[in-house]
Amino acid sequence: MKKTAAVIAAFAAVVLAALLAYDGIANKEMSADFFAMNTYVTVKLKGTDSAECAQQAQKITESLDKEVLSRTEKGSLVYNFNQNGGGTFENEKGLFEYISVLLDVSEKSGGAFDFTLGAVSDLWSFGSAPLVPDEAELAQTLSHSGYEKLKFNGESLVYSDKKAVIDFGAAGKGIALDEIRSYLKDKRIKEAVVSVGGSVLLMGDKAFTVGIRNPEGNSGSYIAKLSVPGCCVSTSGNYEQQFEQGGKRYHHILDPETGYPADNGLVSVTIVSESGILSDALSTACFVLGLEKGRKLAAEYGCSAVFVTEDKTVYLEGISEDVIELTDSSYTLVIE
Ligand code: AMP
Ligand code: MG
Repeated sequence: MKKTAAVIAAFAAVVLAALLAYDGIANKEMSADFFAMNTYVTVKLKGTDSAECAQQAQKITESLDKEVLSRTEKGSLVYNFNQNGGGTFENEKGLFEYISVLLDVSEKSGGAFDFTLGAVSDLWSFGSAPLVPDEAELAQTLSHSGYEKLKFNGESLVYSDKKAVIDFGAAGKGIALDEIRSYLKDKRIKEAVVSVGGSVLLMGDKAFTVGIRNPEGNSGSYIAKLSVPGCCVSTSGNYEQQFEQGGKRYHHILDPETGYPADNGLVSVTIVSESGILSDALSTACFVLGLEKGRKLAAEYGCSAVFVTEDKTVYLEGISEDVIELTDSSYTLVIE
């Protein structure tokens, strides 16, 4: 009898050790930090395949940038397209699908979103030595941009103005999140938090907390906490890239009507969506549109949004007040 008890105890110990070991592997955490798409990328994964997947997520982001979306990397699809002044090329690597989504956002936003403003952004030199461009040169360059000049023609994409420059600066980060999510889908990953600049992918069966950045503070300082399920969250803020000239502040999100930074009282827009490309593109689009029109656009796409205004007020669209908590008492939450 004693012997039987000892055998059972030993067996139980082996099973427990195996379970603990399995649990250890299943909860294995791995992270990767690197620079791509002109911004910092952080990949945090939990699960059996975390080591291999973190490496692969880095590869996916880097090659999406270098081979497809970058407009400065020689040989990328977008670089070639811009070089050829709007010639045609075969659909490769999902580029047509991305462009279709961006054309839709451009149309639905009435042109507030325009991913053909690359040459105009270059005049402002954000990222290097920013300066206010010459007015006439700005107007001239702006006249060559316009998403409506970009057309699909069977297997090709045709640009009617050879001087226009496609720029994925407003949506590439979200596209990277979509590509990473579809890669991770059938891997043994329990949780993923991937941030590409101001866009974050959250995967896992739990509620995540996302901070709404304090426009006046550094990148780790927040004014509110938002509780969300697995999704993509993107923020566009005028504090991301800005400079001062002649006593005035200028930032990198441009109003395609004027070529100057959008100036409508907003400091940031955060979009919550299942789609990375939509969260990223819509945060930029809604920033340019301003509070009222921005809310309508977010709702049209079935996305939730948080708008922060210069007068320190926080407005919600499609988000109930019980999932947001203001953490900075100088801000006011308006529920409408
Ligand atoms: P985001 O940080 O996602 O809001 O994207 C800002 C970037 O998008 C800028 O740095 C530009 O490269 C580009 N951009 C600026 N204005 C616009 C606009 N109105 N529509 C689309 N892209 C824009
Ligand atoms: Mg964006």
